[in-house]
Formats: sequence, C-alpha cells, structure tokens
Amino acid sequence: MTVPFKTGLCYAALAACLVAVPLSDANAQKRKDKKKDKKEAPTEAATAPADKKEGPKKLSEVVKKCKAYPGLFTMYQDTTSGTAYLLVRNDQVDKEYIYFNHVTDGVLDAGYFRGAYGANGVFSVRRYFDRLELVGENTSFYFDDKNALKRAEAANINRPILASQKIEAVNDDNTAFLIKADDIFLGEVLGQVKPSPNPNSKPGQSFDLGKLSKEKTKTAAIHNYPENTDIVVEYVFENPYPVRYGSSAVTDSRNVSVKIQHSLIEMPKNDYKPRLDDPRVGYFTDQVTDMTSPAATPYRDLIHRWHLVKKDPNAALSEPVEPITWWIENTTPHEFRPTIKAALLQWNKAFEKAGFKNAVVVKEQPDDADWDASDMRYNVLRWTSSPIPPFGGYGPSFVNPRTGQILGADIMLEYVFVTNRLQSGRIFSTAALGLEEADTELVDNRHFCNLGSKLHLNNMFGAQVLDALEGSSAIEVDKDDMIKQSLYYLVLHEVGHTLGLNHNMKSSQMIHHKDIHNRAKAEQLGLTGSVMDYPSLNLSADKEKQGLYYTTTPGPYDLWAIEYGYAPVDEGKLRTILARSTEPALTFGNDADDMRSPGKGIDPRVMIGDMSGDAVGYAIERVELVKKAYPTLKKKLITDDQSYHELRNAYLVLTGEHANSLRVISRYIGGVYVDRAFNKQEGATQPFTPVPAAEQKRAMKAIANLGFSPDAFNVPDGLYAYLQTQRRGFDHFGRNEDPQIHARVLMIHQDLLNQLMHKNVWERITNTQLYGNDYNLHNFATDLTGAIFKADLGKSVNTMRQNLQQEYVDRLAAIVEGKESYDHVSKSAAFSQLKAIQSMIRSSANAGDAATRAHRDHLKYKIDIALEAKKG
Ligand SMILES: [Zn+2]
Repeated sequence: MTVPFKTGLCYAALAACLVAVPLSDANAQKRKDKKKDKKEAPTEAATAPADKKEGPKKLSEVVKKCKAYPGLFTMYQDTTSGTAYLLVRNDQVDKEYIYFNHVTDGVLDAGYFRGAYGANGVFSVRRYFDRLELVGENTSFYFDDKNALKRAEAANINRPILASQKIEAVNDDNTAFLIKADDIFLGEVLGQVKPSPNPNSKPGQSFDLGKLSKEKTKTAAIHNYPENTDIVVEYVFENPYPVRYGSSAVTDSRNVSVKIQHSLIEMPKNDYKPRLDDPRVGYFTDQVTDMTSPAATPYRDLIHRWHLVKKDPNAALSEPVEPITWWIENTTPHEFRPTIKAALLQWNKAFEKAGFKNAVVVKEQPDDADWDASDMRYNVLRWTSSPIPPFGGYGPSFVNPRTGQILGADIMLEYVFVTNRLQSGRIFSTAALGLEEADTELVDNRHFCNLGSKLHLNNMFGAQVLDALEGSSAIEVDKDDMIKQSLYYLVLHEVGHTLGLNHNMKSSQMIHHKDIHNRAKAEQLGLTGSVMDYPSLNLSADKEKQGLYYTTTPGPYDLWAIEYGYAPVDEGKLRTILARSTEPALTFGNDADDMRSPGKGIDPRVMIGDMSGDAVGYAIERVELVKKAYPTLKKKLITDDQSYHELRNAYLVLTGEHANSLRVISRYIGGVYVDRAFNKQEGATQPFTPVPAAEQKRAMKAIANLGFSPDAFNVPDGLYAYLQTQRRGFDHFGRNEDPQIHARVLMIHQDLLNQLMHKNVWERITNTQLYGNDYNLHNFATDLTGAIFKADLGKSVNTMRQNLQQEYVDRLAAIVEGKESYDHVSKSAAFSQLKAIQSMIRSSANAGDAATRAHRDHLKYKIDIALEAKKG
C-alpha cells in the first residue's frame, strides 16, 4: 500500500508538500470525565510506569487548567497558555492509525491552497520506557502468512520513528498517558511543511517562505470525534528581507500563514474487502508488492473505492447500507446548485450497473451549519474564488492505505471557471497556449486535475466563435447552454475522481467523426466513452448541426469501470467484466500514457484536447473554425466606451486553440497504437501497432498546411494594431505592451518541433520500422524539411517563416554537432537534411528581397559551421 506519509499532491512549482505523523487508536472517548480525576492522592503519581527520579505527574494536576476535547485521542488545551496535550490510552498503544492532512487555508504563492490534500499514511504508537513513539508504517509490501519468509518481513524496510515524546502525566490507574501535542504538531518534527527548494530554480527566483516562527505558530483549532482527532495548526513563516514579494494575495510577505489540519483516524472496523487493480481499467491505487510470490508481476495493488454494502444482499439492485453522501457547500452560488446536483446524481446510473440503487446522495449545507467543510466526516463539494485560481476543479480523496478504502473526499471548484478572464500575468507569447502544464509530470496517483482550466479556455474559445459566427440573440442561449454543460461535465469528472477513477484520455475516440454532432446519440450513449477525459469543446461550424458541447452522462467506460470497482462479486465474475475491455467504447489510457507533453507517450489516441474517432480530421476542422472567427472579431468584440482587452483575449484564445489542434495532429507522426488487452481476449490485437503510414503522412501534410505554411498564421489586416491590454496602474512596468506576434508564432512552431524533432520520436520511428512502420525517418525528415522550406523557395520568405527556418536549422545543427544525445540514425538523418537545405539555399541564393537574402546567407553560415564541425 502507500509509503507512509507520502504526499498526496505535489503541484509542480507550487508543491504543496507536507508530511506528517501521530498517535494511536481505539474508540473510546466517552469515559473522559474531568471531575472524577480530581481527588487523587499525590503519592499515586509515583506508581506510574516511569523511572525513579522524576516520574510523570498526575494527569489531573497537569490538565486542571485545561479545556478537554474528548474524542479518539482526548486532547487538552491549557486555558492560559494555549499549550495542547494529547492523551493516549494503554489500549491505544501498539495499534495502527491512519494519518491524513490537508490545507485548510494558504496562499498559492507559497504552494498552498484551501482544500489541497497532503500526506496520507499509517502510523502506530509505541511505548519506550517513559516515552511514547510515533512510528511510520510501510504499507507497500505483502508477505503471505503461510510463507516462512513472513518472519523476515521487516528486513530492509524502513520504519521511521517520527516522534518520541516524554510522558508528562499518567492517570490514576496508569492506563492513560499524556504527551505534549505542541511538540508534535507545531514544528516540522513529524514532517516537512515548507516545500523543498525547486532544484531547477536559482536562489531568489521563486517565492521564499523563510523560517518557521516558533513564537507565532499555534494550534488554531481542535476538533475531536469518536473516530478522528483533528488538529488545525497555523504555521507562520517569517522572512524579514524577502526577495520576491508575491501576488496581492500575500498581504505581507514577511509573515505568511499556512493552515494545515492534521487528522488522526481510527482504523475502520468493517469487513471491507480490498479489490486488486488491473491495467485495463483506471483506478487510483496503493501499490503493494507481494514479496513471497515468484510471479513476474507480483502486484497486489489496491484500488481506491468506497465501502458499499447492499442493504439486501440477495437483491439484484439494492440501496447501500451507507450511501456516498455529498454536501454542496454553502458558499456555492445558488444558480449553479441545480446543475451540480443533477450531475452528481448522474453517477447513480453507473452504480446501478454494479447493483446499487441511490449509491450517491446529495444534500445542501445549511447557511447556519455548525460544521465547516474542512470537517473530514463530510464529503463536500466546495466553491471558492481565489486570487490565483490553482485549478477550475480538483477532486481529491483520502484512504486507508492498508485496504484502499476511501474514507473521505472533497471537490474544489473555482469561480474563475465561469468567468471571461484569462489568467493575468502570463506573458503574451505563452498565454492560453496550453503550455503551462506541458512540463508537469503527472503521476496517476496524484489526484491533481487540470480539467477546470482546460474547460475554461475551451469555453472562452467557444464564446468567441459563437460571437464571431452569428449575431442573433440565440447566441446567448447557446453560450449559457455551453457553460452549463461544461459545469455539468466538470462535476461529473471531479466526482469520478472521488469514486476512485483516474483519467481516461483515450475515451474521446468513441464516437465516429461523422456522428459527433448527433445529439440524440450523445445524450444516450455519451459523447465520450468516459467523463474522465480532457476533451475538446465539441463545436460545430454549422450552428444548425450543433450537437452536445460536452458529454452529460457517465459513458460506457465509466459504467464498466464502476461495475469492476464496486460490484459485490467474486473473482470469476470480475474476470468476466475485465474480458470486455477490448470493446471499443471501453478503451482506456491515462496520464501515464498521454501525449500532452512533447516526447511523452506513444499512442496519439491517448491525448487531451482532442475529439472523435478521427482526431486528425476533427483538429483540421477546428483550425478552419479558428480562421472563420477572425474576420468579424473586431466588429463583434470592440464595444463603445470599452478597452480592447477582450479582443486581445480573443486573439490569444484563438491562436491557443490553433496551437492545440496542431499539437493533437502532430502526435500521429511516429505514433504507435497501444492495446492493453491480455492474451486470448476476444478482440485483442498485438500490443503495439505503428500508426499506418498513410495516416502519418496525412498528419504531416496537415501540419505543413496549417502550421508551417507561409500563411498559416495570417489574420485579417488591421487586427494586430488593436491587440491592447487594458492598463491597470503601473502593472505594465518592465513589460512591453506591444503585441509580440512573432514570439507567439515562434512559440507555436517550437512547440511542434519539440515533438516532431524529439529524440524519443526519432528513435521510435526507427524502432517501429522493425514491426510495421513504413514511414521511415529519412522520408519523414525530408517531408518536414519540405514543409518548412519548399513553399517560398526562390521567393521572399516572410519573417515568421524566417524564424521557423532558422529554428529548424539550429535544431538540426545541434543534433549533427552532437549537442543532443540522438542515436546515429537520427544524426545521419539530420546531417542529410542540412545538406539538402544547403543545396536548396544555394539554388535560390539571389531570390527574394534583401531581407530574405540576408536570412538565407545566415542559414548558409550556420549550416557551414555545423557541417564543418562534423568534418573536424
Ligand atoms: Zn481530472
């Protein structure tokens, strides 16, 4: 199972990383009665289990000025000093508990945001003479009880002592021990609170919290319940001389507070049966390796799922004993609540396949509720409007790492999602290009989800196209419909995460391109096989033929996945369920496979921002749609007595969508279709099948026409001069406000070349020749050179193409000169292309205007150096 205290979430640059620890178990709590401890004789303290010199004091003495918080671990807080204590009963020693923490408030500059889930692990409480220890338990390994090796199960597996606390006091009958809670929770003794410095950033480059202040850090709240003890700590960091001041959310960068709630949770006492993971279906898991198995794949990975038990075990369809109850937080705008509720309840459809009726229940948190959303006993769908929204939606859960049982979950939604604002502060060249998370390594077990930001950009794009295409009042209705569907989709998706499902970036392939606007079909079956995808906005150029913008129902894959995860059936039946994985609508591929970042992933169907069974055809149409929106953009988006800010946003969003479509197409070149099916499954193909050469060439041609051709990024005359940001005080200081069009187009070209010239892609093209790829590296590279050089050979080269050609030659030269570690076949291909370009340039040395001649002369100079260097 989980490595103890691993972090559940690490948000790239904003790493919200904390680790932690704590104490022991059991379900007592009612027996705490302060009064009765009052009259103990002072001599009794000496009978405590301590050493002779200075034994622990009497409990009643120490806590007499304290407020008691009875619960799993009874806590006390001194009413004068605020010092907090924790009481451990004898029967709680040598037992395991679950630890979990989450951020109840923070600032994004420091890497913390409200609702971020942190460490989740198992710990135990041990006695060592007059001390109590908190020990982290490793849950990653399994030893069969019947195997003699079981006796060696502790070998070479670390069991960290996270804290060791002196027993301060004992009760009269020596069955309960008091330790100082402050020493455990207020420092970083048990785990790291301040994120480690990013190894890639230089000192002073990023926001620095400074040092943890011992004086200011304090216990902010204690909540105690029979099954969990929650301690909210306000960590205060001091940095007297900050180099970076952070955003306006950081009120004073010399003092930054982060509030974290530590939860100590009793091990569930139930008959929950863990369910093992299978690579054909996408659940979050806790990885467990069977150390006593001789198998090649000794995996006993536990999927994360709720403990659902049928009220009537014999009924085919039964309500669960305890449903999964969701609360809509009282901060949620009223107008969104009906949509949220309806989307949540859609999941009941999936649970019916698994035999459960009304498995999901929705309630609204009253405005005057006596609990708040950070109370882990409630699963809350939360809504915030943050200065720097870290996402549009986020659906984390925490589990019992011993079994995978989900114990609680939340969903965070951000108001920015329904607004028309682009994230400020992004520079013109990268804004809305979708590159901001391209380098983020997403691991499937981190419940991080970027969907909200994607949908938000999608919606801005949709709004602009709808605006640009027509002018009727029906447009507003369409836009409302689109926003509503996107919110519906967002909720479906985030709830899916909290049910244990990870992403399925392959599911947008389900519907054939020609049927993609068949609304009736999409409403019935789903527009995508799963709601766990990051699909493109499904927008038709022909308004009459507009289908669903987003899918509004859990798709066939979701129903099937929930059946696998939740149906109370035996292993034989589970195998039958899994055997269906080859059905096209059940296809699956997640973040570990997807191709969003250059060089990552190999199956182009596992991609974000794509749509339909013909993602290339769909993306080509999308670029055409982008181009259709330009001509009327100025007319539609410039309003009297308003600045041009919205027009500038529109340009950024449209070029962003253009770039995204090219990215989708580019993945087919050198791609490999992957089949996760097991041997002998009906409908299974060989695991790896290279994308057919005709399909690769079609993609190459589309990239050439829509991405690299001299007019690929043309816009109507007179647009650029209006791309002005609305000024706000001195906010432009140091940043030039003129639209940097060339930088933006170059960025898009670089993004394409990052994929098309990636070492992994080039080596894969050569490797796949061994099992069916007919589009070899030489032919591909020749086509790429042609796309970048042929159209304006013998003519003037426009300045955007000059940038592109220089960029391409620089990259070829770097490969030839050995600056990058490409294989020899790749180096030869690059060498051959440089020579071909050299000869093309030679033949048109005198063609074009003076600037073109200078450009070609420069290219020739670079190529000469590269080829000379190789010779030497
Ligand atoms: Zn997601």
